[in-house]
Amino acid sequence: MNVNLLDLKAQNGALEPELREAFLRVLRSGHFILGPEVEKFERALAEFTGAKYALGVSSGTDAILLALMALDIGPGDEVLCPSFTFFATAGCVSRVGAKPVFVDSCPVCFNLDLRDATRRITPRTKAILPVHLFGQSADMDGVRDLASKHGLRVIEDAAQAMGATYQGKQVGTIGDFGTISFFPSKNLGALGDAGALLTNDETLFAKAKILRLHGMDPKYYHQVIGGNFRLDALQAALLAVKLPHFNGYTEGRRRNAALYTERLSKLLGVKIAQTSNCGCTQDANAKEDARLILPVACPNNGHIWNQYTLRVIGTGRRDALRAHLTARGIGAEIYYPLPLHEQACFADLGYKPDDFPWAHRLASEVISLPIYPEIPAEQIEQVCAVIAEFL
Ligand SMILES: *Cc1c(COP(=O)(O)O)cnc(C)c1O
Repeated sequence: MNVNLLDLKAQNGALEPELREAFLRVLRSGHFILGPEVEKFERALAEFTGAKYALGVSSGTDAILLALMALDIGPGDEVLCPSFTFFATAGCVSRVGAKPVFVDSCPVCFNLDLRDATRRITPRTKAILPVHLFGQSADMDGVRDLASKHGLRVIEDAAQAMGATYQGKQVGTIGDFGTISFFPSKNLGALGDAGALLTNDETLFAKAKILRLHGMDPKYYHQVIGGNFRLDALQAALLAVKLPHFNGYTEGRRRNAALYTERLSKLLGVKIAQTSNCGCTQDANAKEDARLILPVACPNNGHIWNQYTLRVIGTGRRDALRAHLTARGIGAEIYYPLPLHEQACFADLGYKPDDFPWAHRLASEVISLPIYPEIPAEQIEQVCAVIAEFL
């Protein structure tokens, strides 16, 4: 039996009558851009996350771009962000004319290493952009300490982590802005592109809202240069149907992560990442005695498991495991095979591969297994059996 990395039909199919009703309501309203559907979803999202304000936007990428624009970050400014993340995090920094200054990652939580961030601060550093990678919060106390010490703005890239918590507080509501993606494979998936911006600051919210609509205030009078970063009424209506089911999706992912850890940790040569080491004291060149290292939720964190990402130790072993899984019909993915500091588009920043030893190493070790909420437990058992055979 094949095991898919994702199956969006399972989740959306279960809600077909409600989604169909929402679609017909929007179709018959004739109101497709912003309007009451978007406002209703924004209120529900603010309530769900605990943010004072939520702004529906066109994508998670545009949410980051808009946050940077609302904070007036541009040419001459530097923004700290991890190298081991999805491209959009740093791409947006470059697009506003600022310079992404990469930071190494922690091999336990996969999030930014704050000691490395501290070393890279200059008089031009204007903001820090932590990513809550794979569904787990970065060390936000550390981020806030660093930000207040150096007068930095904080934008949380919570694209993969809506609903995750740090010390009980939802990610995306801790910094100046939080950005969320509703890309279909994210934990709350739209039926197309969509995103949101969260903030507790009324002035920043007002500014972002104007920038979302070409900087118009009032209509056809432009004080600032904005863009079209609007959320479709249709996506808002569909997302509003799915939002009440979000906690159920998270429960499913947590159950699946626990099952993987339970089964895989029993195998010889497999260990669970040690949260006590989190704080990034490990040497990226050190030899690991394990063959597989399983992911873990750090003590302050409510993990929402957007991904279940293992580290496969040993040269070529990760690619061998991937080939082994593929040959047996099991979907798996590499998030991400090349860290941002090694991407061709950032070559002019002048980084060398070993400037960020963990980001470089993790890119060759990680592999993410199928963990979507609806995956049958037997399929997880099957994935574990195939991994046991590989070891
Ligand atoms: C998905 C993702 C984004 C971009 O979201 P889109 O909605 O696809 O634009 C940004 N950052 C991270 C870390 C992501 O995973």
